[in-house]
Amino acid sequence: MNEQISADALNAAHHLTVGGVDTLALAKQYQTPLYVYDTGAIRDEIAAFKEVFETNQVKYQISYASKAFATVAMYQLIAQEGIHCDVVSGGELYTAQRAGFPMEKVSFHGNNKSLDELTMALDAGVGCIMVDNFYELKMLADLAATRQQMTTIMLRIAPGISAHTHDYISTGQEDSKFGFDLNSGQADQAVKQALSAEYLDLVGIHCHIGSQIFELNGFEMIVDKLVSVFARWQTELGFYPKVMNVGGGFGVKYTSEDQPLQPTEFVDAILKETLAQTKAHHVPMLEVWIEPGRSLVATAGMTLYTLGASKDIPGIRKYLAVDGGMGDNIRPALYEAKYEAVLAKDPTLPTEQVASIAGKYCESGDMVIWDQALPATKPGDVLAVLDTGAYGYSMASNYNRNPRPAVVFCEDGQSQLVVERETYADLTRLDLPLAVPEKTE
Ligand SMILES: *Cc1c(COP(=O)(O)O)cnc(C)c1O
Repeated sequence: MNEQISADALNAAHHLTVGGVDTLALAKQYQTPLYVYDTGAIRDEIAAFKEVFETNQVKYQISYASKAFATVAMYQLIAQEGIHCDVVSGGELYTAQRAGFPMEKVSFHGNNKSLDELTMALDAGVGCIMVDNFYELKMLADLAATRQQMTTIMLRIAPGISAHTHDYISTGQEDSKFGFDLNSGQADQAVKQALSAEYLDLVGIHCHIGSQIFELNGFEMIVDKLVSVFARWQTELGFYPKVMNVGGGFGVKYTSEDQPLQPTEFVDAILKETLAQTKAHHVPMLEVWIEPGRSLVATAGMTLYTLGASKDIPGIRKYLAVDGGMGDNIRPALYEAKYEAVLAKDPTLPTEQVASIAGKYCESGDMVIWDQALPATKPGDVLAVLDTGAYGYSMASNYNRNPRPAVVFCEDGQSQLVVERETYADLTRLDLPLAVPEKTE
């Protein structure tokens, strides 16, 4: 059986379950394609992160990077667990507001926040704004001063850990659109400007070095670099941050081939390194903030599809088509992301074929999985594509005018619909008819 699922995920009939709910029953009740989440697994992951901080006795914040999966119910779940969240747009902020998420626990990210978005964030009273560049720093300093509103900020810096030493690092290098560059002195300049702005309160420094990181090394290098920079700032600028925010990007296991550390192991290493480095530089211990996105939701979610057409090209490849594809999961087309699927009716059946899972969209690149071993299948079977909980629904589109799927949360044997399936009427809701020119004669 696929090692991505545990034996206790099967019920007496051998059907795959999620949060104790039978996936075949879910497919029947809510139709397919369908995103389903085991919300207990999300809560467990949050608890595991908290425990690492508490064991190491380090002050912390865990902030869910909500771009991985953002809906009203998801913000409510995060609020229940008592952690913070990151938003990266007015739309995410609006969704968090609609969810009743406590605004003082929101951090606002993004490399091109508009004046409208910053105004919305100040109106809402978000806890922290992550300032990315000089344009934003000036705009926010002016806005806060005009409103006479003390505003808590962190500066996002690009630490200049070069991409060719570690090519899994995709946003920390100097040549990146994100953050103030450290090596050229721009970050120092930004700190000075922030400190001189009357209505900005600079509490910390942020950096996020990339996503789906599999090795500890990158995080340890970041901690070493940041703490030594902070020690220098303390001497040269008289500024020492209260918070070091190391971002997210902890890798998760999408297929049996991935062998990442547990997300909590990254955090444990980060904390131990921070304790060691602050001691070595004789500077105060920092509060450590993390921003996990993918690692909280990826493996908690799966997508249920129904198999339809198939095509067997002798000696070449067999294609099995599902009723979704790149509109509900763009990651294979966008990043060559790999997934694994199981037959929901019995993941323990012996494999009998190798097939590639195609979507229903009009693109040859619309493939969910290439060459996967599967049991015998027939049209109408429900296929569960595992670990689609991050950047699936949040990146979904209406390409080919396909309605986006519904989202269901499952926990303790109960399911609840948290996003309705789009209808055809939703697709034309914003469309306006062609204006008919008035006849002049
Ligand atoms: C995307 C992002 C994250 C989360 O990354 P994951 O790989 O989903 O953990 C955290 N912080 C920032 C600033 C991000 O842009």
